Amino acid sequence: MSYDKIEVPDEGDAITFDEETDELDVPSTPIIPVIYGDGIGKDVGPAAQQVLDAAAEATGRSISWMRLYAGESARERYGENLPEDTVEAIREFRVAIKGPLTTPVGSGFRSLNVALRKKLDLYANVRPTYHLDGVPSPVKSPEKMDMVNFRENTEDVYAGIEWEAGTDEVETVREFVEEEMGFDSTIHDGPVGIGLKPISEFGSKRLIREAIDYALENGRDSVTLVHKGNIMKFTEAAFRDWGYELAEEEYGEDVITEDTLWDEYEGEAPEGTVVVKDRIADNMLQQLLTRTEQYDVLAMPNLNGDYLSDAAGAQIGGLGIAPGANLGGGRCLAEPVHGSAPKYAGEDKVNPTAMILSGRIMLEQLGWDDAADLVRDAVEETISSGKVTYDLHRQIEGGTKLATSEYADVVVENIEKLS
Ligand code: NAP
Repeated sequence: MSYDKIEVPDEGDAITFDEETDELDVPSTPIIPVIYGDGIGKDVGPAAQQVLDAAAEATGRSISWMRLYAGESARERYGENLPEDTVEAIREFRVAIKGPLTTPVGSGFRSLNVALRKKLDLYANVRPTYHLDGVPSPVKSPEKMDMVNFRENTEDVYAGIEWEAGTDEVETVREFVEEEMGFDSTIHDGPVGIGLKPISEFGSKRLIREAIDYALENGRDSVTLVHKGNIMKFTEAAFRDWGYELAEEEYGEDVITEDTLWDEYEGEAPEGTVVVKDRIADNMLQQLLTRTEQYDVLAMPNLNGDYLSDAAGAQIGGLGIAPGANLGGGRCLAEPVHGSAPKYAGEDKVNPTAMILSGRIMLEQLGWDDAADLVRDAVEETISSGKVTYDLHRQIEGGTKLATSEYADVVVENIEKLS
């Protein structure tokens, strides 16, 4: 494929996807697209690249970076927010990393993040949530948290099917619901906004499949389906039921239910099996705090996933730390959870850890687990020695406050030391 707005580097090769094995075929020097993004993206993007390069080099590999543009940088260069070349290059090169993109408040401006996920059909938002030694946390035992949250990215009340109060459209829907569907005394009189909550078998199963595959491949103990099926029987309960159905249909003895665990195995799962269980979302939110260590991989519809992954993220240190990625169809777009924090843009000040650890997810997708672990260990070593950026510095006693670039330098030194 040729591009007008992108320079494909001479060095390196494209990652391909083997349909038969369902796996990525990764050359020793893959071409990896990178979007720095808006605001602090120009600070955390290069810092993460520097660290990921060092981890690749320390494990005998290299990365050939390919700069892509979206948001402000794309507007400056090409007069558009999201050039089609940017989307196509991620589609072609499969594993990419991006910084945050600003979504100005106000009508008529769609979130570029949502647009990218939709165009590439990246249906699973993944957030590994683990504590790094030395990171201040609001809970007593943050080290108990080691979860990976899979949030469905395309359906639910976030599908965007909604109508504004006072419009002809909303009145048409109200009439249909009341007269055709018989809910004649449910909606209050007067202005009302109405939204739809689609949850499909297809959307639920492909998300839960990602979560179960991840658990099996990474030696995790359980996958918990988090739902509000007690109230929303045909959407949230259906998500849960499709999850159990999928486990039975596709995984045989590799996956057992919590009932089977107790009925047949007295609570001791056979080596290598994954237990599928389910919890009601409000209960799950409190169990995040009270029984943290009993949860491992979570699979959730969109809204539950939104709330739960932020709550879990807070327990291990918050926004400067929390990494993420969007997966689907053999593609990965890694991105930190935080936004573009415009007031700090270009100040070489903010914490690049979330972007660096998003890069760690990217390395795992490449199958470079040794490099991924090295990144984690080097970041932990840096923070636990008290060398931190302003956000963590204000929460700890003593310590050395570093700029973004200085912090990245220390992480690289630690990679060299640990490898
Ligand atoms: P934000 O950019 O995440 O920043 C909120 C606050 O979080 C910052 O003021 C800072 O707090 C802290 N923070 C965020 N990133 C940090 C980092 N790397 N290191 C240290 N502290 C960090 O949230 P926002 O202000 O609500 O959003 C700004 C823009 O980003 C909006 O346009 C929003 O739409 C967009 N956004 C994009 C994405 C994405 O691209 N995926 C995600 C979320 C938001 P203190 O000032 O207290 O230190």
